[in-house]
Amino acid sequence: MNLVLYDTMTREKRPFVPHDPKRVTMYVCGPTVYNYAHIGNARPVVAFDLLFRLLRHLYGDEHVVYAANVTDVDDKINQKAADEGVPIGVITARYLDAYHADMSVLGALKPTFEPRATETMVEIIDMIGRLVRNNAAYAAEGHVLFNTAAYSDYGRLSRRSLDDMIAGARVDVAPYKQNPADFVLWKPSKPGEPVWDSPFGPGRPGWHIECSAMIEKTLGLPIDIHGGGNDLIFPHHENEMAQGLCATHDAEYARYWMHNGFLNMGSEKMSKSLGNVILAHDLVTRYPGEALRWALLSSHYRQPLAWTDETAEQAKSALDRLYGALERAADVDAEPAEPGEAFMAALMDDMNTPRAYAELFALAQRLDSGPTGERSRVKGELLAAGHLIGFLKAAPDAWFQGAADPALKLRIEGLIAARDDARRVKDWPTADRLRAELTDLNVEVMDGPSGATWRIKSDA
Ligand SMILES: [Zn+2]
Repeated sequence: MNLVLYDTMTREKRPFVPHDPKRVTMYVCGPTVYNYAHIGNARPVVAFDLLFRLLRHLYGDEHVVYAANVTDVDDKINQKAADEGVPIGVITARYLDAYHADMSVLGALKPTFEPRATETMVEIIDMIGRLVRNNAAYAAEGHVLFNTAAYSDYGRLSRRSLDDMIAGARVDVAPYKQNPADFVLWKPSKPGEPVWDSPFGPGRPGWHIECSAMIEKTLGLPIDIHGGGNDLIFPHHENEMAQGLCATHDAEYARYWMHNGFLNMGSEKMSKSLGNVILAHDLVTRYPGEALRWALLSSHYRQPLAWTDETAEQAKSALDRLYGALERAADVDAEPAEPGEAFMAALMDDMNTPRAYAELFALAQRLDSGPTGERSRVKGELLAAGHLIGFLKAAPDAWFQGAADPALKLRIEGLIAARDDARRVKDWPTADRLRAELTDLNVEVMDGPSGATWRIKSDA
């Protein structure tokens, strides 16, 4: 069974063949840390985490190297720091910590490397120097610009002609640009902004150059897979490739380019001006991380994902079905197993998560109503498949209790304790009334020898 991935460069699915199966390399453009991540920011993190897990499964954990950068100097960060009157490090530390916490709730494994722009300055400046020496960049008015005319393949990834790009850039072309599509590698800092010394004068890097310098530093060129949201194809990835190849004289930058589709709010784009931005940082306090992860992977990663008020709720119900089957099979020992063939076939086909989900449901159904003799194996397969893609890590009873929000949980436990007290003194009317209250909350109470236990009903 071969892994097949859709490559944006060739616009087709291609069998994945790494340059070196003992060192499979992947780079994904990471966050700019100046505020909390919204749920759209979380989509590439989870989509490429799925790929990271799949590659580790196929090639071995120690043979996959994954780098995702952190942009920790940029105009928005500078602005926020100035607004609060603090150094940029205060802003970036605050939001990077929150980002790490939120993404780990979504089940995203930590990348092997997480390079930061401010810690890659030596390499960034060195790469710009090589571009200047190779006549692919020029200095003008304190800036260093990439000369797009020096790279004949410019526009190859995004399939844009130079004419299109000139038309797109016609508004407000800086006077120091030789060609309208030329982009900034280094620029002077404004007074009060962070500044680094360089042979081109004091200043700071543009955004595109950091990724190329980080890839060269952490992974080495060419890499196997470069990922990101499809809004990054142009100009960011086009520019990364142009400068990376002109600096190194390599023939290839990334062997496969992968891009995830947009997350929309219903049928609208998510935007501050529409007031429909939903933060991952808020959602993780209201839903279990697995439910949010499930929702983010519920559409194929290249398709648009329409997020609505029901999306997280529906994802939770879907997981309730799987956890419900596991709970009903609590007395069945899971046989150690590998994920089944149909499930793997779905993942190997450009990470077809909707099909993989259908296979999980089929396994849950077999666990519930299949022949008794195969339940151990089916349970093992369901768990192995779920674990591979970051699900079914909770014990079923913990899932059904933890799915409740903390305030609700406290209230339920209070009602259960009061009911236990009433039962102990044989006050049956009170016990019945409390039980009815719990039923209204969709709580199922199970009386056992050591007191009552409870769960939120899965068929809600
Ligand atoms: Zn990038």
